[in-house]
Amino acid sequence: MTVPLPVVEPQPPEAVLSRVFGFPAFRPGQAEIVEAVMAGQDTLAIMPTGGGKSLCFQLPALCREGLTVVISPLIALMRDQVRALQELGVAAGALTSGNTEAETDAVYQALSRNELKLLYIAPERLASGGTIDMLRRARCSLIAVDEAHCVSQWGHDFRPDYLRLGDLRRTLNVPLAAFTATADAETRTEIIKRLFDGAAPQIFLRGFDRPNIRLNFAVKNKPRDQILAYARSQKGQSGIVYCGTRARTEALAQGLCEAGHNARAYHGGMEAHARRMVEELFQREDDLIVVATVAFGMGVDKPDIRWVAHADLPKSIEGYYQEIGRAGRDGAPADTLTLFGPDDIRLRRSQIDESPAPLERKQADHARLNALLGLAEATGCRRQVLLSYFGDASEPCGNCDLCAVPAKLFNATTPVRKALSAILRTGESFGAGHLIDILLGNSTAKVVQRGHDALPTFAAGKDLSRAKWQVVFRQMMGRDLVRPDPERHGALRMTEAARPILRGEAEIHLREDTVTGAQDRPAVKSLVSDEDAPLLSALKAKRRALAEEARVPAYVIFTD
Ligand code: ADP
Ligand code: MG
Ligand code: ZN
Repeated sequence: MTVPLPVVEPQPPEAVLSRVFGFPAFRPGQAEIVEAVMAGQDTLAIMPTGGGKSLCFQLPALCREGLTVVISPLIALMRDQVRALQELGVAAGALTSGNTEAETDAVYQALSRNELKLLYIAPERLASGGTIDMLRRARCSLIAVDEAHCVSQWGHDFRPDYLRLGDLRRTLNVPLAAFTATADAETRTEIIKRLFDGAAPQIFLRGFDRPNIRLNFAVKNKPRDQILAYARSQKGQSGIVYCGTRARTEALAQGLCEAGHNARAYHGGMEAHARRMVEELFQREDDLIVVATVAFGMGVDKPDIRWVAHADLPKSIEGYYQEIGRAGRDGAPADTLTLFGPDDIRLRRSQIDESPAPLERKQADHARLNALLGLAEATGCRRQVLLSYFGDASEPCGNCDLCAVPAKLFNATTPVRKALSAILRTGESFGAGHLIDILLGNSTAKVVQRGHDALPTFAAGKDLSRAKWQVVFRQMMGRDLVRPDPERHGALRMTEAARPILRGEAEIHLREDTVTGAQDRPAVKSLVSDEDAPLLSALKAKRRALAEEARVPAYVIFTD
């Protein structure tokens, strides 16, 4: 006697990704795997450690009907994942020898009510026939095998119970998705033989590298001119310019058209039919430039996009990778340019701080932004930095701006130590603007009021201009020597990584080009387009009001 399954509203995976898991975008490779697993295909996914394999079965498990059973070799890993899922509000449970009796009872109860979406079981449990019966009754509709290389007799991690997985799949007769970071051909062949009876699953074997995409970053000074010059250098080929705001997409598209390019704006505020028209034009014409917000791209499947530019810094390193990854899907050379400046950092930080998300989510978003800043401020090969974030080790690529022209570094130990000591002497309670005032010896009202003109670091940094200090602070953030504290309006705190520098046990080299190139700018940001100015000044006013109320310094990383 079977009870009808609850009707599950079909949900787009991207929506679940952000709503349940709190991630802004898929990591490289995840979207394709998720799609195949959701479609019920047998899959074998090989992805580097840290690449995000768990999500590739957890997310489909939530979107599919019925129960997903997950086989994983380590009890501790299972318990961690189950706890993390439960904290996200997902109905997940585990049956392992580490369970208390109460935990096991709770799992069986949930199973009998068809309430569980994910059930982790230790491979040893497969030895008992009862387990398979239980899974059948629980309407298991997908088997996920984590660390699938454990089925290989020749590997170091062989687990005899993994050999029972073939039986389990045949008996339940449901799709199986296998995951491993072990990429060698023998292990792969063995996994296919033992888990899929030799019938070919869909295989995803992709490191994260997209070697045909050239990576370039530039400090933003005149973004409109920079983008126009870059578009000109791309000689009328298809490209995308990503912008941080809707207004900016329209202004830049117009600028590009006036300069003789075939360009269109695209953003979520446009009518659906107007958006569809741009999508169609983009597919059809081979010289169109789409100037867009991140709303553009999810459905775009054009293999010969030759370049992608970011007029504004993306939100996160994941977003960056996904957006540039739309270029050069055909494998032919493609070019990218990402502009970044202090205003971008400030805007992105305030977007995170002012979002309604819970604190941990905001902290994670700040960390993802920091990772992107680290890439922007990289001192060596950018691809190495990017791939190492995603868990891939690699050699210098020869296809990025810093491989082409190595960054000039200078020994910044002294200024960095001065900055760190200003941070510590003021109790890690202030943003860069105030700290720079102290270093420059500016007797601002705030400096005097707090007695910071009596500190030994007062006027200790007169040898650098304000703009250069801003770059030093930006690079310190990019290198994660200091971190803005979201609980204290972005006051800068020193990280452990900075301690040896402060103690004089380590030196630090920063990029010279971006420091010497930094010009003191007028108080009104030339980088903020007219359209964005009202938004920014409203933000500033709001933050000032908040700061007033809390009697803490306004959170502005680079105050004027
Ligand atoms: P693997 O099993 O491939 O080694 P995990 O599944 O443990 O990797 O994921 C590694 C980390 O990446 C985890 O902290 C996870 O939360 C994070 N992660 C996974 N997918 C994403 C994503 N789309 N965006 C941001 N972080 C992600
Ligand atoms: Mg894993
Ligand atoms: Zn490189």
